[in-house]
Amino acid sequence: MKVLKFGGASVKDAGSVKNVARILKLFPDENLIVVISAMGKTTNSLERLSNAYYYKKGNPRQILDEIKKFHIDIVEGLFPDKTHPIYNEINNTFVELDWAIEGEPAPSFDQQYDQIVSMGEVISTKIISAYLNESGIKNKWEDIRDFIKTDNTYREGKVDWKKTQQLSQALSKTKGLVITQGFIGGTSENYTTTLGREGSDYTAAILAYCTNAESVTIWKDVPGVLNADPKWFDDTHLIEQLSYLDAIELSYYGATVIHPKTIKPLQNKQIPLYVRSFIKPDEKGTVINDKESPLPIPCFIFKVGQVLLSISPKDFSFIVEQNLSDIFKLFADMGIKINTMQSSAISFSVCVDIDEHKVPNLVKKLQEKYRVLYNEGMELVTIRYYNQETIDRVTTGKKILLEVKSRYTVQLVVKNI
Ligand code: ASP
Ligand code: MG
Repeated sequence: MKVLKFGGASVKDAGSVKNVARILKLFPDENLIVVISAMGKTTNSLERLSNAYYYKKGNPRQILDEIKKFHIDIVEGLFPDKTHPIYNEINNTFVELDWAIEGEPAPSFDQQYDQIVSMGEVISTKIISAYLNESGIKNKWEDIRDFIKTDNTYREGKVDWKKTQQLSQALSKTKGLVITQGFIGGTSENYTTTLGREGSDYTAAILAYCTNAESVTIWKDVPGVLNADPKWFDDTHLIEQLSYLDAIELSYYGATVIHPKTIKPLQNKQIPLYVRSFIKPDEKGTVINDKESPLPIPCFIFKVGQVLLSISPKDFSFIVEQNLSDIFKLFADMGIKINTMQSSAISFSVCVDIDEHKVPNLVKKLQEKYRVLYNEGMELVTIRYYNQETIDRVTTGKKILLEVKSRYTVQLVVKNI
């Protein structure tokens, strides 16, 4: 069994769905589980729909109509025969969504969000499965919610590994091609959950772990894992082989090429992860496996939209363990992830992603006991396998507000001068 994963960019229009069919033809007679995301930017549109419906602002009906039109256009590009049953099936699915935004909302926003946003993956896999069958690539559509079971932490479902492993037995026995959804799971009461944004990579890893797959391949619009995001750097290099350790570190620091949760299940069963280009599918791309090798080149990760908070006790007393544990508890309770941090005698500095609700709330809470300095418009640059030259390269013309160094990694919070 091999697991392949196609993200939103690889199925964003009729032409790209046809390209997926061409790629699948490279794996004749193999047992494959193919995990697919929502088409293009559908998840973002469905997020807007959930917000408009739940908070009664904007026009949910209009957003839904746009999402429907986007999908019907793709269906028309794939199925010239307007009497094909897929037209009915997709229309019926949209009728369900229509009803969903007519009725009473779920008890919490997050629960409501998952019921609506998950439909992107359901619709994309229905269209693609039908198209593949139509083009002679026989496959079976499976509802992943019957296999991946989670608790009811909506928007960040925690996998119930025992149940998922039991249920996935059936999948490991299936022959041929299975098409299923990334990003979503089901609770024991059959509510839908999602695994966190960009979670389809994680789905592929969960399935590979549970079916003891031979490998996972993620198909991307880049040639593989690069040492920097081409959005920020023009001379990027392809990394042909990467250790699980480097991969987990890079994704943790914000490299968006792989979802951070993907590596652990694969490492635990020593399943290699391939990252390859869906534009140039005959190129090898990157393999991530257990070979330990510090990379020969530095890797750069940029995060914009950062806020630097400097927190100090109001009475000039030292930052001690008790303060730190209070402060960390506030971050954890409010669901704010710390991107980097540093402490001194009387101050503790942290860099976090900007968020218009959570961060101001956190600052208000902190101010009850501490003095808080707040700096917006920061960038966080992480360099793995750094040297002075690489630091100079990313900091010229910038002011460094915080620098955290470990043996292999440096993190710099910088601001344009
Ligand atoms: N469609 C989901 C998202 O955009 C999951 C994924 O693409 O991996 O977040
Ligand atoms: Mg996506």
